[in-house]
Amino acid sequence: MQRCFCRITAGALALCLTLFSAQTARGYAFNQIVPDLRLSASVAGTSACPIPAHQLTAAGSLTVQWSTILGTNPVTILTLNQSTSGQLSEIEQVIQQSLNVWTGVSGSMLQPAVLAPLVRSASANICAADGRNSICFDQSDAAFTPGVLAFSRVLTADHIGAQVGSGAPATELGEILDADLYFNPGDSRITFATPQALASSPTAYDLESILTHELGHLFGFSHSAVWSAMMDPFAPVPGTYTGARPTVSQPDAPLGEDDRTGLRVLYPSAGDTTHIGTITGRVLPANPLSLPAAPAGVTGIFGAHVVAVDASSGAVIAGVLGGWSCSGAGPPQFDGSYRFERLAVGAAQSYQVYAEPLNGAVDPAAVDNALSTLCRNLLTDPGWPANFACVVPPVDTEFTTRARTSP
Ligand SMILES: [Zn+2]
Repeated sequence: MQRCFCRITAGALALCLTLFSAQTARGYAFNQIVPDLRLSASVAGTSACPIPAHQLTAAGSLTVQWSTILGTNPVTILTLNQSTSGQLSEIEQVIQQSLNVWTGVSGSMLQPAVLAPLVRSASANICAADGRNSICFDQSDAAFTPGVLAFSRVLTADHIGAQVGSGAPATELGEILDADLYFNPGDSRITFATPQALASSPTAYDLESILTHELGHLFGFSHSAVWSAMMDPFAPVPGTYTGARPTVSQPDAPLGEDDRTGLRVLYPSAGDTTHIGTITGRVLPANPLSLPAAPAGVTGIFGAHVVAVDASSGAVIAGVLGGWSCSGAGPPQFDGSYRFERLAVGAAQSYQVYAEPLNGAVDPAAVDNALSTLCRNLLTDPGWPANFACVVPPVDTEFTTRARTSP
């Protein structure tokens, strides 16, 4: 198993997809941003509550460009069609299909019309903080440490009017201003194959699975600790793919229910009358004095993976990271709260909820960009106002739980 080492640099989130060969319990988490409250209320609002990073959803608002410069030494992408134009068409089809996976989820505002036509760029090194969403197959980066197959770098607005490169100024807090997807181009042991070429390339990684995962980051996801989720941080082994292949009738086929639920939470559709259920609760220590060296103000278990299971089918519907709540002016309170939203409701629908420590294959480091972004303070941001400051507590990975029957 090789692990992902993601770094956070100056407002940029680097999210990696790494090699992993076993399946284990893996919930979604979002990248968050606390508005820059050093600025005026007119551009940053008046609350230190974290806002999930997200794309705008107006028709045609999401533009993605991809560089047709492919790695040749080693060859980065294997295709069935070997002609130059055929190869590019085959890759472009995979990109389009992977985008369609995320716009194919029912009950989400992220509908196909949000996507502008894919743009090809004949330039190398187009992945840059330029206000454009880009996919690169031939761009090296210091983030490619051994085992990192691909990663995404996402820049999010912490005030209205924030701007990156030639991109439009942000109109919403949490708006993603630039998301770039990098595929490792320089490791001879890492090649990617289109679905058409995968069967004959058993040592290659499935381009579609990895693109779909990285696009999840472009849409605002961090990682999930639910193993059936596309946003699990580990790639399928070479020659295999995650979930099912997308089809015309079910474009979102490879996603897990956890991914779908997360997308509905991030991009709720006002017209969705099915997924309107909410379950909230708190994960608390049996003995409050037992909280391990908890900083002042921490009154619940932080960082528990809380999972909602469909009681009749046993299927995992969503997993979330519990441990905090936020309202009004904020900042977040570390009170052990968790919250599921956008769950399907119905007469026959019921859920079981359990909590587990994040001590399996997905550890706190894999979701650090969802947790470390909950707070800002004098150490992270010089001049940060004290009344809006907090410090993210360490994730509690030590606790054990006991099942309790429902009331
Ligand atoms: Zn990832």
